[in-house]
Amino acid sequence: MPARRTAAANLAIRGATAVTMDPSRTVRVCDVLVDAEGRIADLAEPVAKAPAQRSLDANGLVVVPGLVQAHVHLCQTLFRGLAEVQPLLVWLRERIWPLEAAHDAASLRASARLSIAELLLGGTTSILDMGTVHHTDVLFETALETGIRYTGGKAMMDAGEGVPPALLETTAHALRESDRLAEAWHERDGGRLRYAYAPRFVLTATYDLLRSVGARARANHMLVHTHASEQKDEADLVRQRFGAPNIQLLANLGLAETNACLAHCVWPEDEEFDVLASGGATVVHCPSCNLKIASGVAPVARYLELGVNVALGADGAASNNRLDGWEELRLAALLTRMRDGAAAPPASDLFELATLSGARALGLDADIGSLEVGKYADLCVLDLRRAHATGAGDVYTDLVFSARASDVRHVFVAGRQLVADGQLTAFDEQDAVKDAIAQRQKVLQRARLTL
Ligand SMILES: [Zn+2]
Repeated sequence: MPARRTAAANLAIRGATAVTMDPSRTVRVCDVLVDAEGRIADLAEPVAKAPAQRSLDANGLVVVPGLVQAHVHLCQTLFRGLAEVQPLLVWLRERIWPLEAAHDAASLRASARLSIAELLLGGTTSILDMGTVHHTDVLFETALETGIRYTGGKAMMDAGEGVPPALLETTAHALRESDRLAEAWHERDGGRLRYAYAPRFVLTATYDLLRSVGARARANHMLVHTHASEQKDEADLVRQRFGAPNIQLLANLGLAETNACLAHCVWPEDEEFDVLASGGATVVHCPSCNLKIASGVAPVARYLELGVNVALGADGAASNNRLDGWEELRLAALLTRMRDGAAAPPASDLFELATLSGARALGLDADIGSLEVGKYADLCVLDLRRAHATGAGDVYTDLVFSARASDVRHVFVAGRQLVADGQLTAFDEQDAVKDAIAQRQKVLQRARLTL
């Protein structure tokens, strides 16, 4: 693609090794020039020293597309360490749902700010978030203030065993509130904020809700975000209750098409591989969470072989306990080596899961996910000249197996610098931490939970 530059760039990130993830997988030292709209104007030869209003010397550093995490729960970050060692359905009923029910606007804001601090400092620039049932405006307000690229939606729950009354809604209310939020927030701030319909999972939804969500999302060109086949017991229960396996059931209801992001898919039945491949849904692989709560290991290499889009996500801090995109990438790579041996994808393909595949999951691959002229400058600049990362391997191997969140020096979303020299620019990390500690205490009191 030709350069878009017509005047001095707004920003030049000079001299870094760019791992572009473009179709040719170009890796080269260049100056990344960013225009006034926050898009990449050129990837210029450093010797040309193109003029720019602001320059960042990135000699010796590596610049990559910002990481995309296509399944997180900002609302659960306040519950880190509060829900340990329980099977999924018990974990939800006895800990997570009562805690989510005890959120108010202030505690949800604190949880979101704490999450976004961790995400940005670790080089994640885009997320797909499953909100909680109430106070969803707060999540969008926080995303608006902090600068992260945010797609999210309220969790919809209109049925289910053990759902606290405070989280249980009528079908009509869940749909009405989702429509209101979509109207208020979808495509705000130049498209940085987007709405996604988010029925929590099959076991907490009626057919009516799921079918209506499928129809709305298709009609309005919006995403559907849900969980599927995370644990064996859950998948068995879905089959027993509905007479069809989980992913097939979602497909029957119009929720496994290209606009769908299905978190986990650890326990597909044989015929469901084809359902995913032909329907076009994204599988969001969450390896830390799958290991920590003993869900199993998703068959990622087989999904990729069949052409299924696979993205990565940390899931929630209550089941991870980090929101670290590099950790998910490394674990995804280790697990596929363990599970698939010689059939495991190479490091460059694995790095795509954390970047371009995440962008595809969000339907944003024309705008983000790689460093190409015309795309938004959503970037992460790392310093890999560290004891744990110095090697003679190829850069993808370094990024997948050696890089850590603490190697991230600078982060940009649409050309706006949100992390500079390892520090947040839009808000203060320690303020977010203090506020989170105070608000967590209040949530626990409201939930009347003993730990
Ligand atoms: Zn989840």
